[in-house]
Amino acid sequence: MTSKRYIHAFEEGDGKNKMLLGGKGANLCEMTQIGLNVPPGFVITTEACLDYLEKDRLPDGLMQGVLAAMKEVEKKSGKLFGDAKNPLLVSVRSGSAMSMPGMMDTILNLGLNNSTIKGLIAQTGNERFAHDALRRFIQLFGKIALGIADEHFDAAMTAMKRQVGAAQDVDLSAENLADLANQFAAIVQKHTGKPFPEDPYEQLEIAIAAVFRSWNGKRAIDYRKQFRITPAMANGTAVNIVTMVFGNMGDDSGTGVGFTRNPGTGENIIYGEYLVNAQGEDVVAGIRTPKPVAEMEQEMPEIYRQLIELRNRLESHYQEVQDFEFTIERGRLYCLQTRNGKMNARALVRTSVEMVKEELIDKKRALLRVDPVMLEQLLVPQLAPDFYGKPLATGLPASPGAASGRIVFDADTAEARGKAGEKIILVREETKPEDIHGFFQAQGILTSRGGKTSHAAVVARGMGKPCVSGCEAIVINDQARSAVIGETTLHEGDVITIDGSTGRVYAGEVPTVEATFSAEMETLLKWADEVARLKVMANADTPDDAARARAFGAMGIGLCRTERMFNSTDRLPIVQEMILAETTEERQAALDRLLTIQRADFKGIFKAMKGLPVTVRLLDPPMHEFLPTAAQLELEIAHLHHMRDSIKALEELPETLKLLNPRLYQQYADGLNKLSMGMKEFKDNHLEEDVIHKKEKILKKVRALSEVNPMLGHRGVRLGITYPEIYSMQIQAILEAAALCAREGLVVYPEIMVPQVATVEELKRIHGYVQRLHKVVELTHGINVGVKFGSMLEVVRACLRSGRMAEDAEFFSFGTNDLTQATFSFSREDAENKFLPSYIETGILQDNPFEVLDLKGVGELMKLAVTEGRKTRPDLKVGICGEHGGHPASIHFCHEIGLTYVSCSGPRVPIARLAAAQAQLRK
Ligand code: ADP
Ligand code: MG
Ligand code: MG
Repeated sequence: MTSKRYIHAFEEGDGKNKMLLGGKGANLCEMTQIGLNVPPGFVITTEACLDYLEKDRLPDGLMQGVLAAMKEVEKKSGKLFGDAKNPLLVSVRSGSAMSMPGMMDTILNLGLNNSTIKGLIAQTGNERFAHDALRRFIQLFGKIALGIADEHFDAAMTAMKRQVGAAQDVDLSAENLADLANQFAAIVQKHTGKPFPEDPYEQLEIAIAAVFRSWNGKRAIDYRKQFRITPAMANGTAVNIVTMVFGNMGDDSGTGVGFTRNPGTGENIIYGEYLVNAQGEDVVAGIRTPKPVAEMEQEMPEIYRQLIELRNRLESHYQEVQDFEFTIERGRLYCLQTRNGKMNARALVRTSVEMVKEELIDKKRALLRVDPVMLEQLLVPQLAPDFYGKPLATGLPASPGAASGRIVFDADTAEARGKAGEKIILVREETKPEDIHGFFQAQGILTSRGGKTSHAAVVARGMGKPCVSGCEAIVINDQARSAVIGETTLHEGDVITIDGSTGRVYAGEVPTVEATFSAEMETLLKWADEVARLKVMANADTPDDAARARAFGAMGIGLCRTERMFNSTDRLPIVQEMILAETTEERQAALDRLLTIQRADFKGIFKAMKGLPVTVRLLDPPMHEFLPTAAQLELEIAHLHHMRDSIKALEELPETLKLLNPRLYQQYADGLNKLSMGMKEFKDNHLEEDVIHKKEKILKKVRALSEVNPMLGHRGVRLGITYPEIYSMQIQAILEAAALCAREGLVVYPEIMVPQVATVEELKRIHGYVQRLHKVVELTHGINVGVKFGSMLEVVRACLRSGRMAEDAEFFSFGTNDLTQATFSFSREDAENKFLPSYIETGILQDNPFEVLDLKGVGELMKLAVTEGRKTRPDLKVGICGEHGGHPASIHFCHEIGLTYVSCSGPRVPIARLAAAQAQLRK
């Protein structure tokens, strides 16, 4: 004997110790102890399971303990195990610390044999039921405990039905079933070489071992892998031995399942189904259709009263919505299981708020019981819940939400058709920054290449639009303007539906339900804001984005990326002019035009965010991102040459040919005409040379700008230092916009942030520009608007130098995407496409550091930077922008190391608000 205690009666087991007793067992104990009506029984611990699995035999002394516990159960139930007159039957039920529905085994009616069946007939007065119970028990026991496949039993069943002309199981008589039970026992004998165990204790021993083994069954292992259930979360299954109660003892008996509140809507009324005169399995087997519990009030008022009492006691005890199983035996209600109810997001939020109002729980619990990530369901449109269609293909769930629209294969067409009021889905192999105008008009984006962090995915998430990326089953033919998925060919203009929450793509229009920011959600998030210490800002680049972020409860803009403004169709040519300028004057002319535009942009954003801070980041990406690629230009130039030659050939087509062979001439001329189509205007004005020349000039510039490692190249503050006029223009635009707003009486808090800073000197230089321009704007506009100056921390060196940086910077913002790349020396795309998956598979890394903030490396750098920075400037504001800012686990970390705010895309703001509150509450 070891000192471990393997057996706990329901009367004394610790209801809080789910690791030891499993969820089902712990709750059976707890329910018994608070006086709910649970059939007598006991739990065999998960430790016993682990010992069994390790030694491949039941632990010493276990069965003696079981015997003693069974004696107690006999006393409590007033029945005897193995007795022919008044037999005790039990269920042997699995149950681990984590709910794994249907993954492990349960055996019912154990203790039945050829002699106890007589007692069962006497107890129930139902011969047919007793024989049916026995034959089911033999089959279940045979399958689970002895490993005999169902098909052997099913074959006997089918033969029997044929023999007596029964269409269904229910048509079989008691004699037929008794006969079947004998046949089943013979099947067991044939497969095991031993007779079916008649001795109930032998049955019990075999069943306990079998349930233990089901912990390591393939189903259970796969499930744990899929849902990342580690041994720290659940280790081994407990076994619950529970006195059988019978719901099929007449019209005052029954069985059912219930939720204390509606798990789909959260409404505060009992929800569930029941069957009169039936066993639990009948509900599962679908032999009869259960009725809603509401009907019980008429049909069995006394039982209904007991059920409502059970419901109330469960909720007031657990302070949580419960999902429970019950059985009624001759007018008496038994509770067989309870656990916390799984609910959709809507129901979770509603019950949280209502349970506080009912004083069942406090606000703290209300905030903690909602998983922030689930809120996403409520913030984006979803496919209609009753839709179960088959998808055409499945890609990656890159940006949540569902959308339908007509397929369009390029951004220009998307813009044109979208502006004309059509709903469209932009479908591309992959997207590039210059496709941005297409995004604005699209309902959703579908790409056949690229991961969850591809351009399409990141931009779509930022805009809160659904996106499915990397849907490799789709083969796009841009030329033919069609796409092929397996057997299906889709043409431009065909309607499809994408679900960015699941990655699925459907043909045609699937009905969707709109997002609803319910009153309950507002209330819950208001409570969250009251608790949270971290502020939640949004990443927003346009006035529309800003307004939307504000509606989601953003407390400011933590990152406004100016390059997004540069990319829209009306600005891009000016930006290109600026880049291609050969003289300072030319460049200044382009910048002057951009100044006007940017000033208006910033004004719009400041207005939308009046009263709240707006952090504008100066230009970050390398210049060549605003130009076409060299390959594309080369192609265009070649095409232009070809067209030019066609025009020439057409002009020189010999008149004689027309006379000699008019048909051939016509064919030739038509061909050439077609080739030179679109060139008419050039042709008439002899512009083709100009166009070609211009493209060649751009190509030269593109080649000159090309870099080996553009992400580590000439970008961010490095641009600001080498082309001071660009940053100066932006700074001036920000300050003037703020001044203009202030003059209109709006309270604005502009903040200027410098990207890619590595040295203190860089920051000082740009700070110099800001100070100088601040004076200029004050003089020219006659108003002094406050402005904060700060730095991104996304370069390792900057983190190490943060103490000195803080002399100039009034705030820092961690750019954890770049900082992660720099800390690991991983280029993100290469890492995610090539080796990261195998790193994670083989356990070198636990998670993708671009998705889950790497606390041990990147996190340490952040901690250091915060500490050193605050030594210089105690009130230093520090935040995080970039994707990690919207993830609950990262938010917890940011809270712990004392950040001031997190900034994330608009639709994630509510998620972050709740996570920020939880970070404070979990402390
Ligand atoms: P699962 O975890 O798959 O739900 P359970 O152990 O809860 O498995 O049992 C399966 C079914 O058998 C449920 O409907 C349950 O209510 C019923 N059941 C289990 N034990 C008993 C019992 N002692 N008396 C009557 N029904 C039982
Ligand atoms: Mg159950
Ligand atoms: Mg960056």
